Amino acid sequence: MRFLVGVALLLAGCAPKIEEVKTNVTFAEDVHSYAKPAEARVLHSELDLKVDFEKKILEGSVVHKIDGKGRIVLDTKDLHIDKVEASADGQKFDSARFALGQTDKILGAPLEVTLPEGTKFIKITYATSPSAVALQWLEASQTAGKKSPYLYTQGQPIYTRSWIPLQDSPGIRITYRARIHTQPNFFALMSANNDQRTSVPSGDYSFDMTQPIPPYLIALAVGELQFRMIGARTGVYTEKAMLDASAKEFEDLDQMVSEAERLYGTYRWDRHDVLVLPPSFPIGGMENPRLTFATPTILAGDKSLVSLISHELAHSWSGNLVTNATWSDFWLNEGFTVYVERRIQEQLYGKQRSEMEFAIEIAELKAEMAKLEPKDQHLFVNLKGRDPEEGVTLVPYVKGALMLRAIEEEVGREKWDGFIRGYFEKFAFTSITTAMFESYLKEKLPELKLNVKEWIYQPGLPASTPKIDAYLLKVVDDQLASWKKGEALDTKEWVAQQWLHFLRGLPQDLTVAQMTKLDQEFKFTQSKNSELLDAWLLLSVRNKYAPAQAALENFLSRVGRQKFIKPLYAEMAKTPEGKVKAKALFAKNKANYHPISAAAVEALFAK
Ligand SMILES: [Zn+2]
Repeated sequence: MRFLVGVALLLAGCAPKIEEVKTNVTFAEDVHSYAKPAEARVLHSELDLKVDFEKKILEGSVVHKIDGKGRIVLDTKDLHIDKVEASADGQKFDSARFALGQTDKILGAPLEVTLPEGTKFIKITYATSPSAVALQWLEASQTAGKKSPYLYTQGQPIYTRSWIPLQDSPGIRITYRARIHTQPNFFALMSANNDQRTSVPSGDYSFDMTQPIPPYLIALAVGELQFRMIGARTGVYTEKAMLDASAKEFEDLDQMVSEAERLYGTYRWDRHDVLVLPPSFPIGGMENPRLTFATPTILAGDKSLVSLISHELAHSWSGNLVTNATWSDFWLNEGFTVYVERRIQEQLYGKQRSEMEFAIEIAELKAEMAKLEPKDQHLFVNLKGRDPEEGVTLVPYVKGALMLRAIEEEVGREKWDGFIRGYFEKFAFTSITTAMFESYLKEKLPELKLNVKEWIYQPGLPASTPKIDAYLLKVVDDQLASWKKGEALDTKEWVAQQWLHFLRGLPQDLTVAQMTKLDQEFKFTQSKNSELLDAWLLLSVRNKYAPAQAALENFLSRVGRQKFIKPLYAEMAKTPEGKVKAKALFAKNKANYHPISAAAVEALFAK
């Protein structure tokens, strides 16, 4: 009955299903939230906010529909709370008693509201602070277009509380609506249904997110933005200056969604668009539902870095549909996502490329793990009393994906794919713990011999770690060996990942003459590929290669992606005179960096 199936899918595509917020949930203890969801919880939120670029604040209100009685505790960080009101019907609001508790450096301050009998809604009138950690306010000069300012948010892991007072725990899912007011020439976008008619900005935008999401996925961007369609349900938003390049780089987006669906079941979020942000965006990408936020540093011109887009798309299943209940369970988001990313890349660009990308990530994991304390090498990381950012290492990502690959190799791909499809279906729109994953795995694959506990609760990489056969990197290793013997290199047909592997495989200490020769031959200082340029600049700093100094300063003034800037500043700061230079450069560039990136670099200097 092919035809009928087609019609059903078509209808589902036209009118996305409204998912109910599940109320019969037991909540895992989340040490990074003050919320007490067993007493009272938020089900749905309605925002009404004005974007004030001059004061660098958002101000307005949020109405929470709630379930529970007695009191409700919300998370806040650096918010100015004007008033709190309560209502039984969502129409008539009366002033309610509230208390803002003591501020914790990591968690912010709890907002406790006393609920009069029969309360079903609370309304909070508030404003954010100019230093709100989730918000980056860019001056016109910091954008690609240079004409208008720009605002974007980053909620993960616990930053949403710095722009919305809510229960900021990944275990507490909500639906939301929002009305955003800004100057008429700006376009606003959210992780919700978005308008594609960017040519007629109004300054007044309404959004509806009908599927329950964890609060860290609420996202907003405001700027002079344009849209370009890629496929029927995909497209790209960005500033005019980056529109052509972005649309070209991501032209496979629609196909990516289809391939992912073929592997893991229906895409449940209606549209899948990508917003390409200004270069200050602190991370590679953020899987905000329906609207991935991405760094422009992946616009290499040859699609060599689009695995990041596959990664964010994979989160539409792992992370957004099935979410880590606490930040200690983060590997459930990222390990599955890296695994799914590998599979999407394999479908689109072939097994050789996918395995090569995996091998590079594994090498990065091993390098990072060598510096991590044993307790941080577990998939399940104890983060009590710690900033959840401390759990964001390659361990949940790459070690997580390796464990899933080990299971695939033991039980076979077909069976494993069936398991994953069932897992996404069973836990769709819920947040789960590592223990829940373990018992589901045991139930569905009782024959599995792999020592899963060792992977999850022990440091290091177990003996059962799969061997990844990356032929294309082997070719590079052979050439590296020749290079060390002073022989000429054969680099015909090398792709970006091979070059990256080559740069990372060079001896750490090189003479200026060696650096000069490499640069003359391969033009690394002029590379348009951000990953390659970054690897080359690291070598240049280490080996005091002066001809790359201007490129280094230019890169650090343009790009705010933590993955690049943090290691570069760290390498500079290794010598006393380098540290002085690094601090001066940082002082000059700090305003271009997102508060999250800036804090990470400052922490480095404090060491
Ligand atoms: Zn991810």
